[in-house]
Amino acid sequence: MSQNPPASTGPAPSFVTDALIVGGGMAGLTAAIALARAGLSVVLVDEQPPPLTVTPEFDGRVSAITHASVQLFKALGAYAAMAPFAQPILDIRVSDGRPGERPSPLFLHFHHGDVGPEPFGVMLENRHTRIGLMQTLAGLPQVTVLAPAQATVVERTPAGVRAVLADGRTIAARLVVACDGKASPLRAAAGIKTVGWDYGQVGIVTTVEHEKPHHGVAHEHFLPSGPFAILPMTGNRSSLVWTERKDLAPALMALGHEAFDGEVRRRFGDHLGRVVSVGPHFSYPLSFHMTTRFVDTRLALVADAAHAVHPIAGQGLNLGLRDIAALAEVLADGKRLGLDPGDGEVLARYERWRRTDSLIMGSVMDGLNRLFSNDAAPVRLMRDLGLAAVNRLPGLKRFFMHHARGTVGKLPRLLEGKPL
Ligand SMILES: Cc1cc2nc3c(=O)[nH]c(=O)nc-3n(C[C@H](O)[C@H](O)[C@H](O)COP(=O)(O)OP(=O)(O)OC[C@H]3O[C@@H](n4cnc5c(N)ncnc54)[C@H](O)[C@@H]3O)c2cc1C
Repeated sequence: MSQNPPASTGPAPSFVTDALIVGGGMAGLTAAIALARAGLSVVLVDEQPPPLTVTPEFDGRVSAITHASVQLFKALGAYAAMAPFAQPILDIRVSDGRPGERPSPLFLHFHHGDVGPEPFGVMLENRHTRIGLMQTLAGLPQVTVLAPAQATVVERTPAGVRAVLADGRTIAARLVVACDGKASPLRAAAGIKTVGWDYGQVGIVTTVEHEKPHHGVAHEHFLPSGPFAILPMTGNRSSLVWTERKDLAPALMALGHEAFDGEVRRRFGDHLGRVVSVGPHFSYPLSFHMTTRFVDTRLALVADAAHAVHPIAGQGLNLGLRDIAALAEVLADGKRLGLDPGDGEVLARYERWRRTDSLIMGSVMDGLNRLFSNDAAPVRLMRDLGLAAVNRLPGLKRFFMHHARGTVGKLPRLLEGKPL
């Protein structure tokens, strides 16, 4: 991606729009709907053909979607298509252990009923989230989806944005929203720096079937290599996010089905009866980054383009959805005042709203991963005692539970299920 000064003259653009969204992952798809609901015309471009992105082989992840994010999908009119595939998260159980051993008796248990009638959130296969978002987009005439299409040049000046696609088509816009993922070519072209590091860990992801029902309980079981999450799906199925050392992961991924399942069982335990993995196994490198700025001239960074956090508490996409809800709100408010969507003050408001919250959440996830990916005996003892102590402190417990539901801080209207 290069960023050259815009040509002052030239042929008419192929598309003229208020907002250009580069990247049509779950963040870009959601942003397109939210910005359309804010009254803007939108062009969304993504390199991938949409039918490919909803196949089971493309993305094996099943995401924890917080209660607040469910409210956002509902407010955007996208949740009805997702709901049949959503498994409510009713309880969260945090424990410490080692492969092949029983979990420590000191644990932390959160029950949704302690903070309200609704579940903490739901588990949704990423492909079902994408399908629900794509179906919603199809009903929005003010959104044009160009996919597969790669944005190769995005030129930004105080006067406007001009993008060139690999096939030569051009787009004139007043704002460009970077939803182009962790490596964000738009962020790099804008010269926005990131602070971050590699965890030296990967997240191995697979779906398992088990004999007994999970009763909507999500388990976060801390093993020496990192967290091993057992996340409830519809039916007697769960999604595993197994954090493993990067150097050990290739050998695990190369195991045959039976041997792989044997390793899963050593970590999973027998509380749900016999466990068998179904479908492909995936492995995702884990890293942390946070950008120094969220905005630039007529540019807003959103979701993984702005921040990537450890999946320890399933908050990465939820943070991105908070970005989108805040951006849509400042743009809707700006539009009511007759402001340009690329107005510097409007974008500065977005940055002020989102930067601190993202930084706090990213740092907490990072600290938790460091604390729990440590097998030193004194550290294990301290954290086990810490888990048991939090379990006995109702105030602190409620604080963590509100975080799990995504209902902390100054929430944008969409996250409260309200229209813009
Ligand atoms: C193992 C694991 C488990 C996770 N679990 C959870 C969870 O439970 N809950 C949660 O909230 N989060 C979770 N996350 C985080 C979540 O998956 C990510 O935050 C989210 O997928 C980021 O979405 P995105 O749209 O920002 O980026 P991406 O999905 O990376 O999308 C970026 C898109 O941009 C496109 N693109 C890039 N450059 C261009 C270009 N020049 N032109 C056109 N298109 C372009 C790409 O094709 C791609 O489609 C997890 C992450 C991992 C690794």
